[in-house]
Amino acid sequence: MNKVRVRFAPSPTGGLHLGGIRTALYNYLFAKKYMGDFVLRVEDTDQTRYVKGAEEYIIDCLNWCKISPDEGPHREGEYGPYRQSERKSLYKEYAEQLVKLGHAYYAFDTPAEIETMRETLKGQGKDNLQYDYRVRFNMKNSLSLSPEETEALLKINFPHVIRLKIERDEFVYFKDMIRGDIEMSTNGLDDKVLLKADGMPTYHLAVVVDDYLMKITHAFRGEEWLPSAPIHVLLWKYLGWEKHMPEWAHFPLILKPDGNGKLSKRDGERLGFPVFAMEWNDPVKGEIKGFKELGFLPEAFLNMLAMLGWNNGTEQEIFSLDEMIDQFSIDRIHVHGAKFDFEKAKWYNHEWIKKSSVERLEHDVKKIFEKKGVSVSDEEQFGSIIELIKDRCTLLTDFWEQGHFFYNSPSEIDTASILSKWNENKNQFFVELIRTYSLLPSWKSVELENTFKEIAAASHLKPGELMLPFRIMLVGGKFGPGIFDIASLLGKTETIKRIEHTLSLLNQKI
Ligand code: GLU
Repeated sequence: MNKVRVRFAPSPTGGLHLGGIRTALYNYLFAKKYMGDFVLRVEDTDQTRYVKGAEEYIIDCLNWCKISPDEGPHREGEYGPYRQSERKSLYKEYAEQLVKLGHAYYAFDTPAEIETMRETLKGQGKDNLQYDYRVRFNMKNSLSLSPEETEALLKINFPHVIRLKIERDEFVYFKDMIRGDIEMSTNGLDDKVLLKADGMPTYHLAVVVDDYLMKITHAFRGEEWLPSAPIHVLLWKYLGWEKHMPEWAHFPLILKPDGNGKLSKRDGERLGFPVFAMEWNDPVKGEIKGFKELGFLPEAFLNMLAMLGWNNGTEQEIFSLDEMIDQFSIDRIHVHGAKFDFEKAKWYNHEWIKKSSVERLEHDVKKIFEKKGVSVSDEEQFGSIIELIKDRCTLLTDFWEQGHFFYNSPSEIDTASILSKWNENKNQFFVELIRTYSLLPSWKSVELENTFKEIAAASHLKPGELMLPFRIMLVGGKFGPGIFDIASLLGKTETIKRIEHTLSLLNQKI
């Protein structure tokens, strides 16, 4: 078997939607599973839709996800260039070869003439206004003109395109690794433009020529390309390359949360969740946040994406990238679209944060704290804080909510909640707690708890009634992990300072 070579072939037309990343991921998993190559090809033949910065952005997203391509514009290999615009000169000969073989033709129609054709079809009550077998002989092309007329027009370089001649009443057969045998009639297809007047190929020609020249063995892409597959299969056949045609698979769509159609780039704004991996600086709409900025780990993001359309046949939901590579198979990809569920996406992230080591999280969490103006000096303490709170964090940004009070004393203290059940006995308890704590030789959570309970018993108070005030004194409100763990990480001086501070506030209010 030839070495597996797959490609991810996005068009640089804007932010990379999560469906695109999933396509890249499935390609990557397949390549790695079979020790093949994962190629990035930038399909930028439509210069009118080209968006500056989109190519770098795509590469950045793949890098963030740790599924970087082995070859691409950023990493030249044997089959470059990897941008179709830089391959322009390659395509013409193939389009001309198709003309010679009778599978394509020169078309000299002006935009106005095409418009007239459409108007005529409309006038005849037709819904289908395509340039195809019904109209081609009435148009200005090398099929309707004599060879001499065609030659003369080509000689004066009369603006023209090359169109694929789609035969009537034919059936195109191909196998899709997910959907099985597919049969499609040619009757609905139009005579696609293969080479544009400026010499640029269209997507259809370029994708086939490049898959051939780049020795792609498997062409995997989203379901939205299924209707184009017969055109591509015909091109492989007409160019005489059928033996080299890649195996096909069309991945199911990622659907809107209500299952009503494909999740689009616009749905994120409308429904309040990200649809891009990373922040995309849109030339028109400005900055649009991605999963990364929202506090997702790339491991969780990829895991979630993989499961939108695939499983390993068991109930297992959490997979590392290596496990996915190991267990991935195209025939376990579903045929039907999967609904995107943002709550489920967060669940994946929560699971991943819980199972990640402190070392894995440290760098990302530190960046969040630094953005808030906290510079971490004690690495060991920081690691212990992460360990203590990570199970409570769904997003990386939650580390700040759950841990800011270790660095900043609470700006507001919910004294009202303490005062509702406050009395002199409790006040005395905390005075005694300060005294005893300040003499403690060691500052471990267990000892802090034992001491707390001993003093409570001696004061005839239930520890339960004292824990809430203690918590509020240390963190400002009714939240956070185990209170003795908090005290232990805050350290003796800071803990005592916070108790004293709240006691003085309470005394002012009584
Ligand atoms: N350029 C197409 C896209 O933007 C690629 C389709 C394919 O993989 O054949 O998705």
